[in-house]
Amino acid sequence: MSKNNLKFNSKTIHGGQQPDKAYGAVMPPIYQTSTYAQATPGTHKGYAYSRSANPTRTALENSIASIENGNYGMAFGSGLAAIDAVIKLCNPGDEVVSTNDLYGGSYRLFKKIFEKYGIIFHFIGMENAANIEKYITDKTKLLWVETPTNPMMNIIDIVAVSSLAKKHNVLLAVDNTFATPYLQRPLDLGADIVMHSATKYLGGHSDVVVGALIVNDKALAEELYFIQNASGAICGPMDSFLVLRGIKTLHVRMQRHCENGKAIATYLRNHPKVEKVFWPGFKDHPNHNIAKSQMKDFGGMISFIPKGGTYAAAIKIVEKLQVFTLAESLGGVESLAGHPASMTHGSIPKAEREKIGVVDALIRLSVGIEDEEDLIEDLKQAIG
Ligand SMILES: *Cc1c(COP(=O)(O)O)cnc(C)c1O
Repeated sequence: MSKNNLKFNSKTIHGGQQPDKAYGAVMPPIYQTSTYAQATPGTHKGYAYSRSANPTRTALENSIASIENGNYGMAFGSGLAAIDAVIKLCNPGDEVVSTNDLYGGSYRLFKKIFEKYGIIFHFIGMENAANIEKYITDKTKLLWVETPTNPMMNIIDIVAVSSLAKKHNVLLAVDNTFATPYLQRPLDLGADIVMHSATKYLGGHSDVVVGALIVNDKALAEELYFIQNASGAICGPMDSFLVLRGIKTLHVRMQRHCENGKAIATYLRNHPKVEKVFWPGFKDHPNHNIAKSQMKDFGGMISFIPKGGTYAAAIKIVEKLQVFTLAESLGGVESLAGHPASMTHGSIPKAEREKIGVVDALIRLSVGIEDEEDLIEDLKQAIG
């Protein structure tokens, strides 16, 4: 049977992959080389210089494209390098409409780097797709969506936003880092570009920093590839290998992340010392029905506010955690806890972040794949 028609779990292992041409190695070798021998000038075996292409990176790019149901994949040195390439599609004067509840580093890149070059950003709530249309002008080039959002776990209706993008002939890019293609495949829902911080769930082991873009359209792929090669923020061969290895267990890890996520969200919600829990799997989450329609399950990312809602209470809890590690990042096998206001979202001004709910007392959990009982026990002793 053709490897192109595989189901998702099989694709994580085989999608876009073939045994290495030299010796049949099942895992692609780490081609730790910058350059390639040529027979006569311009005649080579498909690779000339490793910024332009490298066989280990190609293997990762094909794998990522396959699991997102896309035609073209590109791997970058970080998630932000991938976002940087997308925004470089814009010219001075072009406008981008973005979710207001987004990764702090994306916000910083848009505001502090690209505004200098005359690109205009609008940060708005997108839970109600009708709200977006007000901000679309003839200068709009791109809509930037993150769903679930970070860290408030809001859900944005990708189908509704994509029909708006098509109506106005603008591009729709979705940061799919939190959901991963196991839970949600934005290209199938009408997006033009999918972006990943592969540092998180795709790599899955907290041992690498990598980014990726996936698209279907050939002309768009060529434009992005030109930027990738011209700007040069590519993913190296060793890191490509590590993410490829991570992707092979994405489906089993994600299944456990979702199971543990559900158990912990439920535990926290019933805890007398917890004020509020943000997780799209709750039936009374404002966008639960959209989450249900566009995601396979609800993931392992949870935010919560302890009762009393003070900065000091939140800090005390994250300091006491033993199995959860207090650290930046998410999506690894180990459980992590973070304090968005001072960590991931520290680069967003206090007034801006409080508008979207990132208050000083908010704690964000990336629930890992340990035993559920140990994680709950740990939360129990920390919350008290
Ligand atoms: C981490 C992250 C990024 C940035 O990716 P890096 O690999 O750290 O550069 C972008 N978006 C989201 C949602 C993230 O969690």
